[in-house]
Amino acid sequence: MNHTFDILVIGGGPAGMMAAGRAGHLGARVLLVEKNNRLGKKLSITGGRRCNITNAEPDNRLFLENFPESKQFLFSPFSQFNVEDTFTFFESRGLPLVVEAQKRTFPKSQKAEDVCRVLSDYVYVSGNVTVQLNAAVRSLIVTDGILQGLETSKGAFYGKRLIFATGGLAAPETGSTGEGLSMLGSIGHTIKQPDPNLAPLRTTAKWVHALSGISVDNITLRFVQNGKTQHKAHGRLLFTHFGISGPMVINSAHTVRKLLTGGALTASIDLFPDLDLKQLDTHLQELFGQQKNKQLKTALKDMLQKKLSDAILHILEPSIGEIAVHSVTKEQRKGLVHLLKNLSFPITGTMGFAWSIVADGGVTPKEVDFKSMTSKLYPNLYLVGDTIDINRPSGGFSLQLCWTTGFIAGTHAAQSPA
Ligand SMILES: Cc1cc2nc3c(=O)[nH]c(=O)nc-3n(C[C@H](O)[C@H](O)[C@H](O)COP(=O)(O)OP(=O)(O)OC[C@H]3O[C@@H](n4cnc5c(N)ncnc54)[C@H](O)[C@@H]3O)c2cc1C
Repeated sequence: MNHTFDILVIGGGPAGMMAAGRAGHLGARVLLVEKNNRLGKKLSITGGRRCNITNAEPDNRLFLENFPESKQFLFSPFSQFNVEDTFTFFESRGLPLVVEAQKRTFPKSQKAEDVCRVLSDYVYVSGNVTVQLNAAVRSLIVTDGILQGLETSKGAFYGKRLIFATGGLAAPETGSTGEGLSMLGSIGHTIKQPDPNLAPLRTTAKWVHALSGISVDNITLRFVQNGKTQHKAHGRLLFTHFGISGPMVINSAHTVRKLLTGGALTASIDLFPDLDLKQLDTHLQELFGQQKNKQLKTALKDMLQKKLSDAILHILEPSIGEIAVHSVTKEQRKGLVHLLKNLSFPITGTMGFAWSIVADGGVTPKEVDFKSMTSKLYPNLYLVGDTIDINRPSGGFSLQLCWTTGFIAGTHAAQSPA
C-alpha cells in the first residue's frame, strides 16, 4: 500500500468523512484513517438513530445566535457552507430531509444509517480516497517543527496536509476517546479539558428514579440556588432511573454544571405553568366538588399520570391518597397546589461522558483560522468538528458544524499550493 498522500484525514466521523470526500472530489489523493471497523459509528446513533442532521434556519445570523460564545468565529465558515448547502448536499444525493418542531431536521427515511451511507458514498465515489479502517493513530510525525505524518497501528503514513477529525469525548464507546486532543496538545495546541456538556442530570431523590420512563410535557423547570431561580426552561421532561432527561434538560446541563460549582442546586418542576397558584387551587376545588366521595388518588387521575400523582401525594403525606376527597382539609389542598407548582429535588451533577451528546472542550478557537479551518500553529494542519471547543445546544447544531468545517477544510486542503 502507498504510504504517501496529499492529505491525511484522521477520524471517520461526520466531519472527517465530509472533509475526505470533498478533498477527493477536488482531485486530491486522500487517506482517511479510522480506528473503528466502520465509518460513522457515532453518526449512526445520533438523534435516537434518526439523525437530527441540521437545524433549518437559513439565515446565518439567526442560526449563529445559538453559538453565543463563538459566533464571531463562525460567520466566515458559514458564509462558505451553511444550512442551505447542507440541504442541497444531502437532497441532491437522494436523501430528502424533513423539518420537525424547533426546525430540527431529519432524513425523511428517519434513519441515521442512510446519512452514513450518503457520506460513505461521497468518500468513495471520486476514487481518490483510500480508507484505512481498524487503524488507530498513535502519534504525529513532526520533523524540524513541520508536521509530516502519522504513526498508526498499521504503520506510518505521510501527507502534505493533515485534517484532524477525531471528535471530542462524548460517547467514548463510539471511538472518540480523546487521544486526538492529547496529540494536538502534545504539539503545542491549547486544549480546554473536556466536560460532559449536553447531558442528562442526576439526582439522589429516589422518588424521581422510581418515575423512570414517565415524561411530562409543557412544564417549566427552574434551577434554584440560595433561594433564587438561576435558570429556567420550558418543554418536555423525562424521568429516568438516575434523574431527568429530555432536550430541555440536556440543553440546561452546561449552565447547571457551572451553577453546581457554586453550591447546592435544586430543580423545581411547575407541572401547570399556565395557571397561577390561585387558578390551580380553583381548578382543584372544582375537581374535588365533582368527586367528593372518591379517594384523592382516584380523583387526581384526570389531571396527572397515576404514577406521578401517587408520588406527589406520597410526598405530601404518605397515606393521603387513600382518604376521601371530602375529608381533604384546606391546608392539605393548598399543600398539594404548592407541590404541583414546585415539585423539587436536589441536582447532584450531570451524567458523565458516556451519556453526553457533546463534551465541551477541545482546541481553543483562538488557535484556528476559521476562513480555512487551518491551525494557526501549523499551516498544514486543519481542525474540524468536535475537536474545536465550541459550545452549542442540541437540535442539529453539532452536525451542521461538522458539515461546515469538514467541507471547508477539505476544500482548502485540496486547493492550497503543494
Ligand atoms: C448519543 C448521541 C446523539 C447525538 N445526536 C445528535 C443529533 O441528532 N444531531 C446533532 O447535531 N448532533 C448529535 N450528536 C453530536 C454529534 O454526533 C457529534 O457532534 C459529531 O458526531 C461529531 O463529529 P466528529 O466527526 O467531530 O467526531 P466523531 O463523530 O466523534 O468521530 C470521530 C472519529 O474519530 C475516530 N478516532 C478518534 N481517535 C482516533 C485515533 N487515534 N485514530 C483513528 N481514529 C480515531 C473515532 O473512532 C471516530 O470515528 C449526538 C451525539 C451523541 C453521543
